Amino acid sequence: MADEYNPKEIESKWQEEWEKSGIYHAEDDSKKEKYYALIEFPYPSGDGLHVGHPRPYIGLDIIARKRRMEGKNVLYPIGWDAFGLPTENYALKTGKDPRVVTKENTDTFRKQIQSLGISFDWARETNTTDPKYYKWTQWIFLKFLENGLAYKAKMPINWCPKDKIGLANEEVVDGKCERCGTEVVEKEKEQWMLAITKYADRLDKDLDEVDYPERVKIEQRNWIGRSEGVLIKFDDIEIFTTRPDTIRGATFLVVSGKEDKFTGKFVTNPATKEKIPVWEAEYVYSDYGTGAIMGVPADDERDRVFAEKYNLPIVIDYKKADFEEFGKKVVKYKLRDWVFSRQRYWGEPIPVIHCEKPARPDGRSGGCGVVPVPEKDLPVELPVVEKYEPGPDGESPLANISEWVRVKCPSCGGDAKRETDVMPNWAGSSWYFYRYCDDKNDKEFASKEKLKYWMGVDWYNGGMEHTVLHLLYSRFWNKFLYDLKLVPTSEPYKKRTSHGIILAEGGEKMSKSKGNVINPDKIVDQFGADTLRLYEMFMGPFEQAIAWSDEALAGPRRFLERVWRLKEKIADSNVEIPAILHQTVRKVSDDIEKLGFNTAISSMMILANNLEKQEKISQEEYKTLLKLLAPFAPHITEEIWAELGHKDSIHLESWPTYDEGKLVDDEIVMTVQVNGKLRATLKIEKGQSEEEIKSLALGLPEVKKWLDKEPKKVIVVPNKVISIVT
Ligand SMILES: [Zn+2]
Ligand SMILES: [Zn+2]
Repeated sequence: MADEYNPKEIESKWQEEWEKSGIYHAEDDSKKEKYYALIEFPYPSGDGLHVGHPRPYIGLDIIARKRRMEGKNVLYPIGWDAFGLPTENYALKTGKDPRVVTKENTDTFRKQIQSLGISFDWARETNTTDPKYYKWTQWIFLKFLENGLAYKAKMPINWCPKDKIGLANEEVVDGKCERCGTEVVEKEKEQWMLAITKYADRLDKDLDEVDYPERVKIEQRNWIGRSEGVLIKFDDIEIFTTRPDTIRGATFLVVSGKEDKFTGKFVTNPATKEKIPVWEAEYVYSDYGTGAIMGVPADDERDRVFAEKYNLPIVIDYKKADFEEFGKKVVKYKLRDWVFSRQRYWGEPIPVIHCEKPARPDGRSGGCGVVPVPEKDLPVELPVVEKYEPGPDGESPLANISEWVRVKCPSCGGDAKRETDVMPNWAGSSWYFYRYCDDKNDKEFASKEKLKYWMGVDWYNGGMEHTVLHLLYSRFWNKFLYDLKLVPTSEPYKKRTSHGIILAEGGEKMSKSKGNVINPDKIVDQFGADTLRLYEMFMGPFEQAIAWSDEALAGPRRFLERVWRLKEKIADSNVEIPAILHQTVRKVSDDIEKLGFNTAISSMMILANNLEKQEKISQEEYKTLLKLLAPFAPHITEEIWAELGHKDSIHLESWPTYDEGKLVDDEIVMTVQVNGKLRATLKIEKGQSEEEIKSLALGLPEVKKWLDKEPKKVIVVPNKVISIVT
């Protein structure tokens, strides 16, 4: 046995072995308690993986591995969120079929992720662009349609003139396109919409039921923007206010407008009966409440600024009113319905057909209107196209393929056209966590039985940037499917956490354009996957952003080498187990649950230091350290475990437990003070009585010489001090 730690030799060997033995495959018909750990599935870009990607995967891998060792049947799956603009733009540039591009990219990502020894259940790998997958995305859309929650509306949409695409509100940042930074303009367009607002109240209220970080809840609540208020009529203008009690202080009315101006109109304040002017102003949003507010400069900061600017009266001293004289109680939300159309190519075709049968001679419409594609005809597959450019008016590239567009109406058999809009790339990620539960099912998106066993997700980790959009959308889909009794829980995720991103050395964001992206392949090649894993967990608190440092990789690598060498110290005979072992088991167990991976690792380092100082160490001690380390560094621990003569994987062992009674050393050193001065130390055994300790202390020669008479008082502070007063 060549005894040098050589990760290159052992890591790929164990990766193959694990895949062969299937130890990370979740079992659907297990009697064990289930545990569902989930990471946000990646978008397989052409750039491949960078070192930031695996941080959350490793974090939850540690959780998943610990749960397996705790006896749970763990589902820890992975897939690809592969529709969307980056791949389509690449196709536009190169003319390459997005399917081919996606295949190449996922192959690269898969190989890279597999080289890190993450315990994903690869047998359940899914891909949102697989027709077998998006068949069900389309099927769910038809459920929305059937239930009146998908509808078409001509409405002003956010339009990016550069990308030629309609954007959801969420994709507009400071008036600019989130993707390309171009100023967004308004454009009237027929759009498919999903009525997420119907669920606004439950999306807000049910946040009380889930274990999310408080700031995630706050961000979701702000986005939903629930406010209780009343509608009050000022003549023919209805306003919305959350402060109806201030109505007597209302000295003007403001309706939403593009600029500030007086309309020339006056209305009556129903409380004071006074005529007040009606203004238009930018600061009132057209889509909030009724798009009109009462101006109460004495009680509202923005109203006061407006009144001062335009010399409007300000009434300070007025009587607060009881609104039920004046208004109707309502709840308003800032949340808007979800623009669900994209005039692009690389997305799920929206599965409807527009019947074109002409109107009848009597003038009544003869057509069937919007007809859903029958379920037996799903999926509506994306046709192969030559060109990926949107049309001049921003139609989908699909509109140019007449042989695909022209179909017979499924209802009347007349001439009809396929819908050419596709879904946004939020669609596939709104339900992927169900598919993992039953990924081969071709009769349902997942069987009720399997969903009942696996759902909800016990722990979901993902980026802070997805706090509002993805999280809110998938909660909405879940609630809709729950109402149809198709999924078993009213919330999809029981617990949500977020990881901090990894920055480049020097603290900048990693980006291809800056050329500061670090490829994990290089690190794995040079140091091994276990070192990379350990480093990414050790570099700082998991939830905080942190800068990469090549130099700092050496520390975790040295630690693993020390663990490797410790096996030479194993003694045949029994060696006493020190308290520090119990302390470390407790610390590592607790820290993992709190995402304190860095502090867990440092306590294992302290334990290793301690063991190194011992002449001999027991098998028991060493094996415990290996088990604690196994979720962090699965390859090296598996290798040593096998060398120690075990036939079964260390990853199937039980998680170590500690003895509460052995957390402190058996021997305790106490100090002895006489009249406040330190005079001696005293070794006692754990569990000795106070009386025994007192008499031992008084019998010490260093103490005796300070006692010329009987002491007045002897105070024992347990495990610390014996204080003698004469
Ligand atoms: Zn754009
Ligand atoms: Zn028809």
